[in-house]
Amino acid sequence: MRWTQTFIPTLKESPSDAEIISHKLLLRAGLVRKLTGGLYTFLPMGLRSLRKIERIIREEMDRAGATEVLMPALQPPEIWQQSGRYETARDVLFKVKDSAGREWVLGPTHEEVITHLAASEISSYRQMPRNFYQIQTKFRDEIRPRFGLMRAKEFIMKDAYSFDATDDGAMASYQRMYDAYTRIFARCGLKAFPVEADTGVIGGNHSHEFMVPAETGENDVVYGETDGYAANIEKATSRGPLHPTPAEATGPAPEKFATPGVVTIEQLSQAPHHVEASRQVKTLVYVVDSQPVLVLLRGDDTLNEAKLMARTGAVHARPATPDECVATLGARPGSLGAVAGVPAKVLVLADDALRGAKGMVTGANEDGFHYRHVEVDRDLRVGRFVDVRTVHAGEASVRSGEPLRIRRAIEVGHVFKLGTKYSEKMNATFLADDGQRRPCVMGCYGIGVTRTLQAVIEQCHDENGIAWPVSVAPFVVCITPLNVAAGSAPLTLAEKLHDDLTAAGIEVILDDRDDRPGVKFKDSELVGFPLRVNLGEKSLASGEVELKPRTGPMVKVPVAEAAQRVIAWVREQQAALNP
Ligand code: ATP
Ligand code: MG
Repeated sequence: MRWTQTFIPTLKESPSDAEIISHKLLLRAGLVRKLTGGLYTFLPMGLRSLRKIERIIREEMDRAGATEVLMPALQPPEIWQQSGRYETARDVLFKVKDSAGREWVLGPTHEEVITHLAASEISSYRQMPRNFYQIQTKFRDEIRPRFGLMRAKEFIMKDAYSFDATDDGAMASYQRMYDAYTRIFARCGLKAFPVEADTGVIGGNHSHEFMVPAETGENDVVYGETDGYAANIEKATSRGPLHPTPAEATGPAPEKFATPGVVTIEQLSQAPHHVEASRQVKTLVYVVDSQPVLVLLRGDDTLNEAKLMARTGAVHARPATPDECVATLGARPGSLGAVAGVPAKVLVLADDALRGAKGMVTGANEDGFHYRHVEVDRDLRVGRFVDVRTVHAGEASVRSGEPLRIRRAIEVGHVFKLGTKYSEKMNATFLADDGQRRPCVMGCYGIGVTRTLQAVIEQCHDENGIAWPVSVAPFVVCITPLNVAAGSAPLTLAEKLHDDLTAAGIEVILDDRDDRPGVKFKDSELVGFPLRVNLGEKSLASGEVELKPRTGPMVKVPVAEAAQRVIAWVREQQAALNP
């Protein structure tokens, strides 16, 4: 391929609305262009890398025993009503109307469509295990599309769905996908690691997200440096707060005291009250699937909403408004407490860290008053103790006790054991070997293909541009003749090298632009081709060409050996990426 034949519109400056480095480089290297927020056109170089990632995914899905299908993006709302997600996923569902006024859904994911298929196609245990996958465009009404391809309204996903007759079978299917994902990201040259993930309303313990560590990621991952513990903060647990509430002997009955103007934990911790945050009970009112729920935490802890949803099985949860607090408890935020007078119908959840806590201070459910000498188990009307706090760095790992660390990461993939949630609702049943009719046991497995592409850039770049791993580079070798006049020695050799390398199966781009060497070098580094071959009159006269790996020092090799040396270099790089 010749540079002038394709389309690589590189930019010197990054557009002002690109916030993170990978987004800037996507644009500057001419890989994509923005149509509008969350919608991008792939240009030739971006598309070539995308296709390479897709090819790696296909190879690994096929190797793992999955089989490719292609489902419609446009879907009837009825199947979404059947699964219940017409309501629960309404925030992300794009809906369109046809000319007859009938409504359709643009698929954000395909559990409904595949379960509909399985309901009619799978009828016996003999037809399982079965795993269908596709690589297809998804639509999600993201409120804040941002960071380029990272969070888009339209993006490409690989989604796979497994069907098994038994729970053990489903676990084996899950493990095959987990292993395939590990290989896929390694082959893409991406350092991604699996972390335990929240399973939300569906429950169960089997969900992992594949995370790429990056400061610009939208997830916090909690991990132990040596014990292998790793979990999304939405799910992470620890052995408890860094400074547990000290145990105390049972004390006097609660005593009400005036706290005029005090409405925050911070204010109560200062003069004249001096109640340490860890001695305070934080009382939050939440509306959980339209029901008021009181959540109690230690004053120095923060609520983890994902955990609250998981513990209550809720689909929607939000903090109550001050008016709703008054309606529920008779007082405004700042003076709330799970003390006498909380209506019986209000569920009270207390965080595990409050279990047995004594000598605490809590709101009195009366504006401007608190209680002291509160013993949580004795004086508060706790319905259930649960883990709803957010883990902090430094707390002890549940595995080894070592201090946990937290880092930001990008979620590129997600594997999930679904169980029978969809198959029950959508009647995807089969005849088991004991003659019983049972729902299929399902799993679902997603990779954000376009997000993965950008994650590679986020991880593989330097101050000069992208530094692609050979497996996903748009071209592996960029041949750069420094004289492009027809018949000149550099161009003649460039063309021969181009043909020899292409014949050896190596993807080569020949930079035939009539530009200054500096411009050509800069561009090839910005676009990030893994190896550049410089062909200049001077070095050719002394019988040499220059090989410049994108991330390594230049070496000079004899003209006669150039093709062989390039092939050897590429093969070595490829081998290093093959697990
Ligand atoms: P997130 O938490 O980032 O919104 P999700 O958990 O909703 O993602 P899944 O439903 O698990 O995403 O989708 C599978 C994969 O699709 C994700 O791991 C991610 O890589 C990708 N993905 C999800 N939403 C987007 C988006 N808006 N733009 C690009 N990729 C996305
Ligand atoms: Mg996910």
